[in-house]
Amino acid sequence: MRKLFRSLLPAFALLLASAPVQARAFRTVIIDPGHGGHDKGGQWGLVYEKHLALDTSVRLESELKKRGFRTVMTRRSDYFISLPERVRIASRYSDAIFVSVHYNYTWKQQVSGLETFYYSGQSRALASYVHAGMISKVRVVNRGVKFARFYVIRNTSCPSILVEGGFVSNSAERGRMKSAWFRQALAEGIADGIVRFRRAG
Ligand SMILES: [Zn+2]
Repeated sequence: MRKLFRSLLPAFALLLASAPVQARAFRTVIIDPGHGGHDKGGQWGLVYEKHLALDTSVRLESELKKRGFRTVMTRRSDYFISLPERVRIASRYSDAIFVSVHYNYTWKQQVSGLETFYYSGQSRALASYVHAGMISKVRVVNRGVKFARFYVIRNTSCPSILVEGGFVSNSAERGRMKSAWFRQALAEGIADGIVRFRRAG
């Protein structure tokens, strides 16, 4: 028995060495609150996506710190920052993942729900874990994990996702996202998903 185990050991070691552990060996989470300044993002009355995204991101920052991550915010108040500048900030960190936080908008007011986007193959698992984390915290329509070519997730080299935490244009969802508990629940769900992604590596 012991002999068999010993003979299998090199095979296991090889398996571990070839597993894509590198992508998961991150310590830093770059949090990217969507929009800011003159770029309000989705808007309904006085409800602006830029404010919701920033508040959710600040909550996410504190949840991630509690879980032992280092965090970097691409903006931490209401000012404009270009998409290339967001990518430049991300490129300064080699041990990082990138999470862009947004809320959705469409002229079809009945549309609602959460969706999470990825571009590269290495980002798909991150998107799945984070999406599942959010869905487990709030009762909403699950619009799923999807491929998209958004600038910030297409041009960052680390695992990168873009989260859409619901539709500003849907009245029920707008009501929820205006309350702190909903944004807090999303932040906790995102943080839990990031922890599970790292463990899965
Ligand atoms: Zn947005």
